[in-house]
Amino acid sequence: MRTNSYDLVIRNGRVVTPVGVEELDIGIHGTRVAAIGAVGSLPGGLEEIDARGTYVIPGGIDTHTHAYWPLNGSRRSRDTFASAGEAAARGGTTTMIDFVPRVGSESLIEAADRRLAEIDGSPIDIALHPIIDELTDQTLREVPELISRGLSSFKIYTTYHNRLSHGDIGRAMLTIHEHGGLAGFHAEDHDVLSTALVEVQSAGDLSLPHFPRSRPAWSESAAISRICQRAAELGAPVYFYHLSGNVALRAVEAARSQDIAVYAETCTHYLVETEEVFKSPDGWKYTITPPVRSAASREQLWRAVADGGIQAIGSDHCAYARNEKVSASEDFTSVPYGAPGIEARMPILWSEGVAKGRINVEQFVEITATRPSKLFGLHPKKGAIKVGADADIVLMDPKVEWEWPALS
Ligand code: MN
Repeated sequence: MRTNSYDLVIRNGRVVTPVGVEELDIGIHGTRVAAIGAVGSLPGGLEEIDARGTYVIPGGIDTHTHAYWPLNGSRRSRDTFASAGEAAARGGTTTMIDFVPRVGSESLIEAADRRLAEIDGSPIDIALHPIIDELTDQTLREVPELISRGLSSFKIYTTYHNRLSHGDIGRAMLTIHEHGGLAGFHAEDHDVLSTALVEVQSAGDLSLPHFPRSRPAWSESAAISRICQRAAELGAPVYFYHLSGNVALRAVEAARSQDIAVYAETCTHYLVETEEVFKSPDGWKYTITPPVRSAASREQLWRAVADGGIQAIGSDHCAYARNEKVSASEDFTSVPYGAPGIEARMPILWSEGVAKGRINVEQFVEITATRPSKLFGLHPKKGAIKVGADADIVLMDPKVEWEWPALS
């Protein structure tokens, strides 16, 4: 009788580790990777998986999700952390980084405690970016406490009702930087957006094809440049959520050329879709901000994913029902912006990235796991398959083909 040294052994897969791709066996004890060895070298496990023909990769990290998201009053988006986490796991995502939105008169700390209670029941690991939507003496006192509790990556809006003024952004960045946190931004300049929307409204047609004109790309580059001027003054690192295309990317790259540590995220939809979707009958599904841009813009994002200029890919998952969104076809201002995408993110990035030759398997692992794990303090537990790391492992079968179920 063989002694079982491992709870689970994954055999014969093409394992993507920090040193390359090799056929290996992986022994798992409890929730950790206990051993990695040549094929056939590990003793039996209580459970065994034959991973022949698949790539064995570290679980995906989705850096940008809005599960169970508060809208006006007591309304929430159409999922919970349990259902969002289950969808994530089905698509190969094992860690999601969601946000802490304040509800009502909550302080940042009270909001974080409430949000932590809400994530109960998720089958995957969850981290949170607190949102600073108001800057008061109390907020500034709470930022260091959140950082000391491990909630150290923040989100600040430059548009919407919960935006901070440019002056307050500067003050928030100072406090975050002094205490070793990372300031992140939804970067679309509010003044630029307001003027653009008035122009579209004056023309009298708010149907969907006009949506991109209401959110021009230079609103992103304008916000990024202003924020990076403050970052340069402070010597502070900054993170930008959801770059939509080449205009925003150029602003990030220009700031980097001045020795500022600028990290950038893009999202699945910006790498896959183009603004042509707004002319289609089901274009209402794509009312996401910022909007998707041109095909040429999209290819610049892929270039940056491949060369390391982009550090993370989020889904910006925010699930609404059809009846909350369809009216966007006639009036794009009538709907909550956002779309679900937590499950599709990894398979679609594989299909459009690896299968189409834009990136290789190692680059896929870098962008979906390794780089975000390092940026958000999850490494070395997450982001790479190595002994001692969490056994967050995905078997990706490159031969399986299916069509993503279309919403109709
Ligand atoms: Mn978002």
